Amino acid sequence: MQWKSWLQAAAIAALMAGIFIADTVTDLEIAAAVFYIAIILLAVGRFPRRNVIALAGLCILLTLASSTLTVGGAREAGIVNLAISTSAIGVTAWLALRVVAAEAAAHAARAQLVRLARVTSLGELTASIAHEVNQPLAGIASSANACLRWLGQDPPNLERARASAERALRDANRAGMVIQRVRSLARHEAPRRERVDLNAVVDEALQLARGELERNGIGLELALAEALPAVLADRVQLHQVVGNLLLNAIEAMPCVPEAGRRIAIATAREEQSVILAVADSGIGFAAGAQERLFEAFWTTREGGTGIGLTISRAIVEAHGGRIWAVANAPSGAIFRVSLPISGARR
Ligand code: ADP
Repeated sequence: MQWKSWLQAAAIAALMAGIFIADTVTDLEIAAAVFYIAIILLAVGRFPRRNVIALAGLCILLTLASSTLTVGGAREAGIVNLAISTSAIGVTAWLALRVVAAEAAAHAARAQLVRLARVTSLGELTASIAHEVNQPLAGIASSANACLRWLGQDPPNLERARASAERALRDANRAGMVIQRVRSLARHEAPRRERVDLNAVVDEALQLARGELERNGIGLELALAEALPAVLADRVQLHQVVGNLLLNAIEAMPCVPEAGRRIAIATAREEQSVILAVADSGIGFAAGAQERLFEAFWTTREGGTGIGLTISRAIVEAHGGRIWAVANAPSGAIFRVSLPISGARR
């Protein structure tokens, strides 16, 4: 970078020398010194403010020197030209420096705005991280508990303990992945797109939720379509959507007698889309709640963030899909997600 500044300074010096020679050898009537304006304009923005001021002073001095050294031409015309050239140099330097200062102020204000926007979205981001990481953390805690129980038996069941430890490890990796994705979201990175099998995503999400399902005595019905076409998607984000719907379904159960607790997950192809349906026999929606489900921070649950469905909708829509909810019969809710199949024309 240093050599570039030196090159620019050398070019400006050469140009100044050229103007000085032209101004000195031509008659006093010819105001070649106004070309010093070009020097000022070249220097502004490239060099610090005080160097530009020094340069403007030097140009004025050279103009005065040329005017004294020039022999040909009328003296009165020379004095008028001298006044015009020096004031043009001075005014140009002053105006150009003001423009640069205004630009710098605008830049600083823009940077401040960006910072402010970040601070306001920080709360939302924190809530989303808390929400998305909660699932794997719950998984880690339950697997670690199970692991301790298997180890505590007499004799310890090492095989089961190892399986629980492996589940905890998988959940820890999942939490890491979620945090990585949230961080990339904060850096405005484009989501990854790969061919994803929705059935496989459902399987992975179920591995995480299995402990919760068992603990809450919830029966699971799976109806995953065979040979389901792939969707072009960010796998981790889709995992967040499925995991979130599953968690919501589980959380809708506590008031339902254990015998009636059921969650049904189905996938299917419908024309150019794949459909995922998560149906539960939980409490369902109160009147007027259905319209508000996807609103940010709308929650009816104690300790809820009201952001899970908002994030889910944002993810689904970013994939060109749709998410909606309907009431289940005789009770509960059904959440449906529709995603365009990979290669489908939209
Ligand atoms: P949170 O789970 O933190 O409350 P969500 O955005 O995931 O945030 O959900 C918002 C609200 O939508 C919940 O508080 C709940 O009232 C309602 N909801 C979501 N899923 C279900 C469901 N399966 N059954 C009944 N209500 C649901």
